[in-house]
Amino acid sequence: MPLAAGPKKNLLTSLTTHHAPSTTHPIPLLRSPMLWQPSLPESYTRATPDDLRARITARRQELGSRLIILGHHYQVDDVIRHADITGDSLKLAQAAASRVAESGAKFVVFCGVHFMAETADMLTPDDVAVILPDLSAGCSMADMADYDDAVVAWEQIETTLTDQRAPARVIPITYINSSAAIKAFVGERGGAVCTSSNARMVLEWALAGGDQPKKKAEKIKVLFLPDQHLGRNTAASMGMDVSVDTVLYDFRKTRKGDGVGGATPEQIARAQVILWAGHCSVHKLFRPEHVDQIRTAEAGLPEAQRTRVLVHPECMKEVVDRADLAGSTEYIIRTIDAAKPGTKWAIGTETNLVERLVKSAAARGVRARILSDCQCMCTTMYRIDQPHLCWVLDMLAAGKVVNQIKVLPKVKELAMSALDRMLRLTAGAGSAVKGDAAKWTAGPVAATVD
Ligand code: SF4
Repeated sequence: MPLAAGPKKNLLTSLTTHHAPSTTHPIPLLRSPMLWQPSLPESYTRATPDDLRARITARRQELGSRLIILGHHYQVDDVIRHADITGDSLKLAQAAASRVAESGAKFVVFCGVHFMAETADMLTPDDVAVILPDLSAGCSMADMADYDDAVVAWEQIETTLTDQRAPARVIPITYINSSAAIKAFVGERGGAVCTSSNARMVLEWALAGGDQPKKKAEKIKVLFLPDQHLGRNTAASMGMDVSVDTVLYDFRKTRKGDGVGGATPEQIARAQVILWAGHCSVHKLFRPEHVDQIRTAEAGLPEAQRTRVLVHPECMKEVVDRADLAGSTEYIIRTIDAAKPGTKWAIGTETNLVERLVKSAAARGVRARILSDCQCMCTTMYRIDQPHLCWVLDMLAAGKVVNQIKVLPKVKELAMSALDRMLRLTAGAGSAVKGDAAKWTAGPVAATVD
């Protein structure tokens, strides 16, 4: 029975101990809520960083192999130092699943954001509690794609294609930076999840018909959620003319009654890829002017002495077009780790990660800096701090699980089908979105699925 059939259902997926599901509100009230995080007692908020560090270390020892702490690359050093495993979202969720299988751990504390904890919950056994130290650590991009808006968009697109006499099969793809509800929406409709390193492979698979190969003369379209920039950059890397072959679907415009997400029916009928109007509020801070500034300042330098611009594909296309290289967080790390001494780099991604890369690169004679001087920090990641980490560990030591992120079984089943399609498709390999780092590194930089 399709989830989209009949009256819209609230599929809020991650219900914590603080929240109950709502199934009775009309659509406008079914937007994913900001989860509420109670204030911490002063014993946490007034403690010094050193005191908190010692308390967390003691609790980790006490909880032993029952506990795994995961730290996303964008976390501050004070948090990263306590992590058993660091990585980006999928790598961490997969690593947690393997570590749980080896050690029998029962608690996974995810120092990241909400959708990441959901993915970890889906990949670990049901008796493992996945905990987010601060419930208000969401992701602005994931929050821009709401299940009910996606259902409305799907119906609007199908109606438009019928009205335009432009029959096409639409296959949805969602970037892993999305809620479990959106992954379920995609899974139910035969689509797949993608990461920033395998987006092209997944998009090619979808345009070839997905799990049901395209029939002769059949038209396929992709609805790409929620990051318009990753979708547009990937389409461009495949040679599409993004001004014609892609179109932006802005759910905010649909809410105001403005066309098909602000697009014309003809644009929807013509496009191969319909891009959801979501974006990362951190990566959008990198501007083409930042790259232009570097190019202008170094115009007189020999090629070998110029700064290499390396960015994440969540940056806008105008930035990726001007950059030398674009790829996932893990690709960025591997490129800088392999950079030849004497090379110079400007990196367009989250500031906490860049600061760590700058330090490690300097020790090897590699000069790196962030592409923009603005505070390109993920403020929602920043909500995870030592006080909240210490608090959840104290609660665990006292036998109380707080801030558990639990995906509902039906949502998990559908979301996993979208995730499994990606894993089957891309086992072991991925690619940079743009460029080949080999000229400026000690060897080729592989981009695996991360
Ligand atoms: S950096 Fe952007 S995409 Fe990543 S968690 Fe923060 S807001 Fe979301």
